[in-house]
Amino acid sequence: MLEADRSEMDFLLRDSVENNFRGFAVHYQPQIDAHTGALYGAEALARWSCGKYGKVGPADFIPILEENGRIVQLGKWVFRVAAHQCSRWRRSRPEFRMSVNLSCRCLENTDMCQFAKNILKQMALPSDNMILELTESWPLHNGQGSEETVLNLQKTGMKLAMDDFGSGYSSLLSLQKFPFHLVKIDKDFVKSTTRNDEQASLVPSLTQLCHNIGRQVCLEGVETREEYEAVRHLGIEVMQGFFFGHPVPPEEFERLYL
Ligand code: C2E
Ligand code: MG
Ligand code: MG
Repeated sequence: MLEADRSEMDFLLRDSVENNFRGFAVHYQPQIDAHTGALYGAEALARWSCGKYGKVGPADFIPILEENGRIVQLGKWVFRVAAHQCSRWRRSRPEFRMSVNLSCRCLENTDMCQFAKNILKQMALPSDNMILELTESWPLHNGQGSEETVLNLQKTGMKLAMDDFGSGYSSLLSLQKFPFHLVKIDKDFVKSTTRNDEQASLVPSLTQLCHNIGRQVCLEGVETREEYEAVRHLGIEVMQGFFFGHPVPPEEFERLYL
């Protein structure tokens, strides 16, 4: 991205956030219970579009919001929208689990936990319907404060997931240190499952490792039937990927999966 575009986007993003999140939306991607093939829940994913640049992907706008600090406001907004959606969808699916991504900047924010508790209370939403996804590298960049926030969030009864497992530096240490319920194996590993060499053992080995220490596993990025066939017998608990469904707006999610 050109520097001029980045600073223009920075301005437009701040403007959107300050104006009631104009241009932002939350899409939902299905997650499948790999044992039964039934719907497990959904991951809430932020979307943004503006007049000048049209649809902009999270890979471009999330880093800008992290830098300008607005990611904390966005994180809270997505949490609220997704929790509201979850409280509706759980009327017909009481077990529905909604996953929300939390940036490490949100964990530095000491009122995040109280904020989340208030939302759950307002919506009469049981905490175990919500899963908070943290990327594995956050303890490296953050101090005691954010560790405390994570443990407090977990005490509310919400479940924690480690996102993009295997892609960062401190995966194993974080796994040892924090009570993750679910470990999401990074989508870049999926392609290896259909190869004919030793790389094919990566996903089975990572799965085994997680199971040995009592964590459930979600495999992200399953795109084809061939990949699904290669991993379906590994005992993985949850799967997610274009093979099962793309992220879609809530009305479409309802129509397709509920
Ligand atoms: P993530 O949390 O790992 O989310 C999964 C990403 O993988 C999503 O990209 C999803 O569209 C994509 N994906 C799902 N299935 C497949 C597949 O089969 N193949 C491929 N190639 N990709 C697949 P998306 O929506 O572009 O989001 C990218 C990242 O942006 C997310 O990665 C997450 O780190 C971040 N992000 C998105 N929404 C939020 C948010 O509300 N808050 C924060 N803090 N980060 C967010
Ligand atoms: Mg995620
Ligand atoms: Mg991920």
